[in-house]
Amino acid sequence: MQWINENLYISPINTYIDPYKPVENAIITHGHADHAKPGHKNVLATKETINIMKIRYGENCAENFQELPLNKTLKIDNVKITFYPAGHILGSVQVLAEYKGEKINFTGDYKTKKDKTCENFEPVRCHTLVTEATFGLPVFQHPNEHNEIKKLLRSLQLFPERPHVVGVYALGKAQRIMGLLRQQRYDKEIFIHGALEKLCNYYIKENVFLGKFSKTNLKDKKEYQGEIILAPPSAIKNVWSRKFEDPIICQASGWMSIKQRAKQSLVELPLIISDHADWNELTDYIKLTRAENVYVTHGRDEAIVHWCKMNKINGLALSLSGREDEEDL
Ligand SMILES: [Zn+2]
Repeated sequence: MQWINENLYISPINTYIDPYKPVENAIITHGHADHAKPGHKNVLATKETINIMKIRYGENCAENFQELPLNKTLKIDNVKITFYPAGHILGSVQVLAEYKGEKINFTGDYKTKKDKTCENFEPVRCHTLVTEATFGLPVFQHPNEHNEIKKLLRSLQLFPERPHVVGVYALGKAQRIMGLLRQQRYDKEIFIHGALEKLCNYYIKENVFLGKFSKTNLKDKKEYQGEIILAPPSAIKNVWSRKFEDPIICQASGWMSIKQRAKQSLVELPLIISDHADWNELTDYIKLTRAENVYVTHGRDEAIVHWCKMNKINGLALSLSGREDEEDL
């Protein structure tokens, strides 16, 4: 891997992938805050990621933006760059870089499960796979997301007088939960915390179906009996959620499989819904790519590196700093 280094720097074209600090040339895999930072000079990303960056950081959060559509190859000097869908959130991509016949695929964050709120994941063959491993332990086996949503709907039937306040991250998770509810034919209005509004509106603009929703207005507490309200986890922890009468606090996150974590966050109804690959998705994908080398950017890297060795693949942990700000888990 002489032409990329452990900071995901592609030296022949002086370009970083998801750099943590402002740089001259950046390729951004997706809009989550631990991958997309403001202040770069030149940004190459999908149209959706660029729009999400502008919504979150302002129109001038980079000097120049260049869009690259999915599955189209851009040649920069002697390096070919192609984006493939990562299935993580709207606009998220894997970045395939090819130089002198060698292909390196940077997954960014990804999941291989189908998701109606973004382009579905597409596998890519490569010589070297640079992968995340947020849930890179065999113990992480995400359950079926439709069954998790059914738990929420069952709770609403059992406690029709109680508001169900669901902790979701503003980008990706909020919209996925809304989409999953609609797939279960939940057609009532969904209420959202104001912090989710801009991004929900953007998803709609990109033709993602979320159904009817509106911002909460807490003048009449009784209004929310038996309703679903989505809010960022931080709002659930502060006084905001106490405005509801006898709410059931829920949270949708891959980490909800750890009971202690749910308990600590005072979550009564944990929903294990993740936008990251679990152990089986991670290891299945490594096999599918037929990569000879696997570099793990962040997450539980030891088990994946060990698994690679057992499977005669060169595994290496990069332990990038600044990832997993817990925004998108
Ligand atoms: Zn992410």
